[in-house]
Amino acid sequence: MALDAPVERRDEVQIAMGNGNGVAPSQPSRPAGRPTAAAAAAPYADRRLRLNPNADHKPEDYSDVRGEYAPAVYSALERHLPPSLIDADRDVKLHFMRDILARYWPQGERNKVQRHREYRQRILHLYKPLHEELYNMHPSVFFLPTFLEAVRSNTEECFRSIMTEPIPGVYSFAMLQPTFCEMLLEEVENFEKWVHAMKFKIMRPNTMNKYGAVLDDFGLEAMLNQFMEQFIAPISKVLYPEVGGGTLDSHHAFIVEYGKDRDVELGFHVDDSEVTLNVCLGKQFFGGELYFRGIRCENHVNSETQHEEMYDYTHIPGWAVLHHGRHRHGARATSSGLRINLLLWCRSSVFREMKKYQKDFPSWCGECQREKRERQSQCVKATKMVSPNTHTQANRLCLCCHFLDTLYFL
Ligand SMILES: [Zn+2]
Repeated sequence: MALDAPVERRDEVQIAMGNGNGVAPSQPSRPAGRPTAAAAAAPYADRRLRLNPNADHKPEDYSDVRGEYAPAVYSALERHLPPSLIDADRDVKLHFMRDILARYWPQGERNKVQRHREYRQRILHLYKPLHEELYNMHPSVFFLPTFLEAVRSNTEECFRSIMTEPIPGVYSFAMLQPTFCEMLLEEVENFEKWVHAMKFKIMRPNTMNKYGAVLDDFGLEAMLNQFMEQFIAPISKVLYPEVGGGTLDSHHAFIVEYGKDRDVELGFHVDDSEVTLNVCLGKQFFGGELYFRGIRCENHVNSETQHEEMYDYTHIPGWAVLHHGRHRHGARATSSGLRINLLLWCRSSVFREMKKYQKDFPSWCGECQREKRERQSQCVKATKMVSPNTHTQANRLCLCCHFLDTLYFL
C-alpha cells in the first residue's frame, strides 16, 4: 500500500507552535524602552510566544517584506509575541519572528520550496498558454448546468439529486462541459509539446505517475483554487465533514495519462488528500476502471477488504468521482486508446493539525468500525451469558459497555 504523494512538493506552510506556548524557556531581564534591531534581537531569541493571540493589538504592516513567508504570516504571528516585545521596533519584531520561523522550517525544506518557486516562475515566464480563458474561472463555460444549479442551491438534497453513491463515500456525477474538457486536453498537449521542444525537465504529479503534468505549475493554480473553494468545498462540507471537508484550504491539481506509451495502470494506494476529485477528460479508451477497496486509517491501511467495500467504477468523459482521500483504490489497465483524467487533491490544514491530537479511533475507517461492532457484539454475548436481565437493567455497571463507551464515544 502506497501513499500517493507528490514529489518534492510542499503546498502549504504550517507553522508549528510546539506545545502551544511556542518556544523556549524564560529569559534574563532586559533593558527597558524600545530596543533597536541590532542591539536587542538576540536577548529576545528565547522568549515564549503567547498561546492565544493578542486580539487588541494592531500588527505592523509587513507588505514590503520579501522572503519565504507571506506578509500575512508576520502580521498573524505578531499578535502572539510576548508582552515585552509586542511594542518593540518593527525591525526587532521582524528579526525575532524570522528567528522563530527558521526553527520550525529547516533550511533544507526552505531550499526545496525556493527551488520549486523558481521552477514555477521559469515556466510561467516562458510558456505561452493556448487557451487563455482556462486561466480564469468561467462557471458556465466549465460546468454543466445541472452541476451549477446543484452548487448554487447548496443543499445536501440538491447535491444528492445529481449524484449516485454506489458505495458509501463514493459519489459520481456529470460535471464538466465537453468544450471545457477539450480545451483542457489541448492546453495540456500544448504544454507537453512546449516541454519537449524546450527539453524542459518537468516534475511529474506524484511518485506513481511517470506521465502527466501538474496544472498548478503552469499557471492554473489560481483558477483551480476557485474551482476547489467555490465548487468542491460546499459539497465536501456536507458529504465529508468528518475529514475536514468544510475546511479545505489547499490543493494539488494534476493530469494523469494512461494508454499505449503512457502509464498503463495505477497500483493500490491512498491519496495525500482529505477529499479527491477525479474527472475523466477523454479521450477514447477501453479499460482503466477505478477500483475501490474501503476507507482505512493509517493503522488499518493494509487490512482486508470486506465484500461490500468492493466497487469498480467505469470512467465516462465529463463525469467526476468524488471520494475520501483515504479510500483505498487503484486503476486497472487501460487496454487501448488514451485516457486522460484531471485530479484535484483537496486538503485541510486544520484537519491535519487536529489529527495529530486525535486519541480515539476515526469514525470513517471501515476497519475501526468493524472492530467496534465486533467488540460490541462480544460484549452483548458475554453479558447475556452472565445475566441478561442484570445487563439490561444495569448496563452502566457493565465493564464491557463502560470500556466501549470510553473507547468510542467519549
Ligand atoms: Zn482504523
